[in-house]
Amino acid sequence: MSKYKHIFFDLDHTLWDYDTNATDSLFELFDKHQLDKLDRFGKGDLAKTFFEVNYDLWDLYNVGEIQRPDIRERRFPAIFDRLGANRADVPATLELEYVSLAPTKSATFVGAHDILEYLSEKYELHIITNGFDDIQAIKLESSNMDQFFDVIITSETTVYRKPDKEIFELAMDRAGAQLEHSMMIGDNLESDIRGAMNVGMDHVWFNPEGKDGRLAVQHEIKNLIELKGIL
Ligand SMILES: [Mg+2]
Repeated sequence: MSKYKHIFFDLDHTLWDYDTNATDSLFELFDKHQLDKLDRFGKGDLAKTFFEVNYDLWDLYNVGEIQRPDIRERRFPAIFDRLGANRADVPATLELEYVSLAPTKSATFVGAHDILEYLSEKYELHIITNGFDDIQAIKLESSNMDQFFDVIITSETTVYRKPDKEIFELAMDRAGAQLEHSMMIGDNLESDIRGAMNVGMDHVWFNPEGKDGRLAVQHEIKNLIELKGIL
């Protein structure tokens, strides 16, 4: 009999395949706006630079230096700058189209639905995400994962962000979960794993690319199906 009752999942890069879905959306918008006509960058450059700029902006958001509207205002102009294109050539609707399109994409990590099916028979499943309410809800629905989760906590509604221990406490409170019966699963060492450590929660680091870790993690998996050996 497992000591766990409540499993808290991160969403982006853990269940919902952010990179695949973002790339797919950017390629679509590149074609729609005929960005090849600018003669400055290709589709691959757009996606690669998007991830670099986005990563930097989310880092700033996660430490509270910028707010949600800043991410959206700065993202594509910064990408065009970095690609040597003119920021005046950023299509006026591009950001809005991107944020509307990407969450409707459905790619998930290998085994996501299987493991959620398996775990949902034995545990209550929840989401703790640093994303935004409306967006995360659409992602869960588009990828057909919404039915698995009970409590969905975002940094937007709680004002706290992982790795703050308060967001974990609020999630447990909402779920009616006790710390000793709870487990956190996520891909990000600095937010998911450090956050779980901050509150003293057992945790699994989802590390599909086999990156070198800087923290002494409790469990590490490369494939979500490996959770069957732990839970
Ligand atoms: Mg993540």
